[in-house]
Amino acid sequence: MGIEIREVDTDIGILSCPVFICDQCQQVITDGDWALYQWKTLDGHIIDGSLAFLHKGDCNDAWDDAHNDMGSWSTMELSYFPIYLGNNIGVDWNDNAKGAANMAAL
Ligand SMILES: [Zn+2]
Repeated sequence: MGIEIREVDTDIGILSCPVFICDQCQQVITDGDWALYQWKTLDGHIIDGSLAFLHKGDCNDAWDDAHNDMGSWSTMELSYFPIYLGNNIGVDWNDNAKGAANMAAL
């Protein structure tokens, strides 16, 4: 699951927007500071590259307990995910912020 397109009620109306879905409770994550993404590592190396997106607290605790078969979980704040991803595809943050705002207004 992880990322889906959903119709989101925004300040300018209902828009089709990508959202993060918690892999544990299946609810939309609306606060990146209270969520994380994580991946499995073994001996300091990524095992398979799959990601889990989770609310912090009960959801990530339950997820970790249910998926503790091999390696350990590495985690990062979900708020950082779009920044790292955007940097990896060469996003020009100033120009693209204007472009996204213009597309949302259509
Ligand atoms: Zn959750």
